[in-house]
Amino acid sequence: MVRVSNPLAELFVPLRFVARDGFARAANLRDLGRLVEQLGARARAAGDDPERLDALIAAAHRFDAEVDAARVAAGREVLQVLGTLIPLPPELAAAATVPQSGGERGAPPPRGPGGASSPRAAAAVSPRGGDPGPQPFRLTPPESKPARQTRAAATGSRKAKAGPKAADSGGGEEGSGRSRIGVPAFAKELLGQPLEGCSGVGPQLAAAFGKKGLHTVGDVLYNLPRGYQDRRRLATIRELVPGAKGLVLVQVVDAKEIFIPRARKKMLRVTVEDPSGRMVLTFFRYWASTLKRLAPGKRFFAWGDVKLFGGQKQIAHPDLEEVEEQEGGAASLGLNAGRIVPVYRGMDELGQGRIRSLARQLLDERVEVLPEILPPGLLAERGLISEPEALRSLHFPGQDADVEALLAGASPGHRRLAYVELLLLSVGLALKARGIQVEPGHRFDTSPKRIAQALEVLPFEPTGAQQRAIEAIAADMASPSPMNRLLQGDVGSGKTAVALVACLLAVQDGRQAALMAPTELLAEQHHRSFAKLLEGRGIEVALLATGRGQRELNHARRRLASGEARIAIGTHALVSEGSAFQELGLVVIDEQHRFGVEQRAELIGKGLRPDVLVMTATPIPRTLSLVLHGELTQTVIDELPPGRTPIATKVVSSKGREKVYEQIQRQLGEGRQAYVVYPLIEESEHSDLEDATRGLAALRERFPDKRLELLHGRMKSEERDRVMEAFRAGAIDLLVSTTVVEVGVDVPNASAMVVEHAERFGLSQLHQLRGRVGRGAAKSFCFLIDHGGEGRARERLRVMEESNDGFRIAAADLEIRGPGEFLGTRQAGLPELDFADLSRDARLLEQARADAFALVRRDPDLADPAHRLLKREVFERFATRMSLAQVG
Ligand code: ADP
Ligand code: MG
Repeated sequence: MVRVSNPLAELFVPLRFVARDGFARAANLRDLGRLVEQLGARARAAGDDPERLDALIAAAHRFDAEVDAARVAAGREVLQVLGTLIPLPPELAAAATVPQSGGERGAPPPRGPGGASSPRAAAAVSPRGGDPGPQPFRLTPPESKPARQTRAAATGSRKAKAGPKAADSGGGEEGSGRSRIGVPAFAKELLGQPLEGCSGVGPQLAAAFGKKGLHTVGDVLYNLPRGYQDRRRLATIRELVPGAKGLVLVQVVDAKEIFIPRARKKMLRVTVEDPSGRMVLTFFRYWASTLKRLAPGKRFFAWGDVKLFGGQKQIAHPDLEEVEEQEGGAASLGLNAGRIVPVYRGMDELGQGRIRSLARQLLDERVEVLPEILPPGLLAERGLISEPEALRSLHFPGQDADVEALLAGASPGHRRLAYVELLLLSVGLALKARGIQVEPGHRFDTSPKRIAQALEVLPFEPTGAQQRAIEAIAADMASPSPMNRLLQGDVGSGKTAVALVACLLAVQDGRQAALMAPTELLAEQHHRSFAKLLEGRGIEVALLATGRGQRELNHARRRLASGEARIAIGTHALVSEGSAFQELGLVVIDEQHRFGVEQRAELIGKGLRPDVLVMTATPIPRTLSLVLHGELTQTVIDELPPGRTPIATKVVSSKGREKVYEQIQRQLGEGRQAYVVYPLIEESEHSDLEDATRGLAALRERFPDKRLELLHGRMKSEERDRVMEAFRAGAIDLLVSTTVVEVGVDVPNASAMVVEHAERFGLSQLHQLRGRVGRGAAKSFCFLIDHGGEGRARERLRVMEESNDGFRIAAADLEIRGPGEFLGTRQAGLPELDFADLSRDARLLEQARADAFALVRRDPDLADPAHRLLKREVFERFATRMSLAQVG
């Protein structure tokens, strides 16, 4: 396997920052050790020398720990060891070896909040000693009754984070260092006290909370209710409506244990009354203390599902709150009654009561310490409430709060927390975007005349959307900061034409352009079409492909280096070919989801600062795109070239396969070609490959006079290319493939596709697959064979029948599956959002993004004292993920 790029290259940017001028800024980088550990883990996985990596990590930690000269020495060592793992850019190589005298200033590094002992240690102390302490919680499985009583905040149920992971709270999640509960870093410090020792919390209760992932004050305060119950209205027993929930204030008449012979169990039956009548409360699980608590004469608020049993109203397992008797017999409404009551995740009714009162106490005593992280202007402008107000309103909504909004996660409190989260993320992205732009790039001449000249090459009129994309790209290229743009467009929307125009703009201005494709086959395909369009125009296009043999490759390199070739097309390896260029001005990356800081750092390391255009044919909804590729400016081609006939798509069960084959037969009979695709989730999954292999055998029997071949991910790449080439040339009629290995492959004569086990694919993926057909003039068909049966899966697939619009399909897919599943393996870049929901908070995200980019534009180093907290929080959260060096 060819290593495409080394993750360690991500270190170049921060190291260049500190190492400049003889490590003048050595004191200004924090957490290098953590960054190196993460990148080191990736490098290790990719096969880098473990001993050297260990040495690198050790040196980085030393760098973090030391000050002054010792810190600089450690910094040099980092560079030296790094140099044995990956070629260093010249300035870093120089900084590693040249011992500078003088100029090595440096204050002690700012110390982080570290050192505080883990609150978990306290929670883990086993309860000993005579004090029986409060009763432990019972664990209520998340699917049991209380969970169903209240609709979780609309988003919760879909998100992975809502899952019942509470019991396993050990070990921080990778890199983030944040616990499962989204306590912001600034709050973590201020609210970091362990629960044990808070008034009323003994070791046993603390341990019980600990099992739920609640270890500190902050954990409790940021553990937002997953739902709410509207218990504002107090009814009389007579008013209670069977079949609905109700709240009553009752007095215990008597409590009896009854043996149920059939269940061989005892139950507790409590008769209660109020002035309007009597009713019964029943318990099937209870303790001796429950019985004691329900002594005759005591008054309780009882809340629950009212049923009618033998003519009598009854509530099983009511939520109870004992009335604290006041003078005159007035009952004060407590936390569990007479209000909108919060319901917490993974707690039974007793636990609910305990956590409610703990939350109440902590809100009263601790929450005020939280500082305002938002600059005052933003708070007012966006009409947001403060952090303490938000937490208070979320745990204990006011009497006039909007329950619907609370349940939908759209209350002012939710909005505040989500906004802060999205703002922090967007500030991180804005800093990242800016980091790319600090080094000025080339100002291209993209005058209308030049654009018109480039457009002449196209054999068609650009669509309106293509025109807009070209204008945006031209403006980027003309500006002094390097372009960093994402071009999204549905399959067949004509992105390649836009890329060609961008390349021509670079070439006309005397620079070279490179187009990077994900595979050699696609590189060849682009080469063919570019060369054809540019025929006779005196612009040479070089193909850098190893498949063509060393001689041709060397030839192409020479043409590039001499500047005779103006456009280079190749795979990712083009990046490492960077030095082959005479004057690279533009890099276009096709079908690539992530062009990371690392590749750019590699290019910059070679003295190249090209404009970059990234193209993707897997449309993703804008919200997700802003979060995933937020450092890129974005353009969408939302219009297809004229004259396309939509692909006729049909979902069929496996029983309908023969009918499908008849259609295929007809297509092949007309001289067309077809694909049959089998899912291959994991390339190592034997059974999937067997499916395809068996499928091929069966298909050969079904189509005895046709030429069929198998294409799969475990074939050697030359072999794969050979099969694809044969298919393109029409020497294969039916291509059976384990997955579409070649995204973006263009075989216009292919007019039909069958996807087996369509239920296993994401909708966007299916849409992408389907885009392999319908590329010619002929009417095309796509059959989705659903082995999954009825119901939701089938319904989901129906979206494919109804729409040919990649963005609509992506939105539906996201809606149905949630961001994690939607992105599948691509979700690596997805930040964990604790409070924001990308489908619900789209508008909030746009606002936060606008605010963040404006803020970074005004204060690029976040040096304003009003941004101090914000800055710290951004770096705490995103420094490693976004390769931001901690500056300052
Ligand atoms: P994408 O890369 O976005 O999937 P392509 O650039 O491969 O799409 O374009 C798909 C097909 O549409 C190509 O055959 C291309 O020549 C054609 N095409 C692109 N733009 C136009 C246009 N404006 N008018 C007519 N045909 C176009
Ligand atoms: Mg394409």
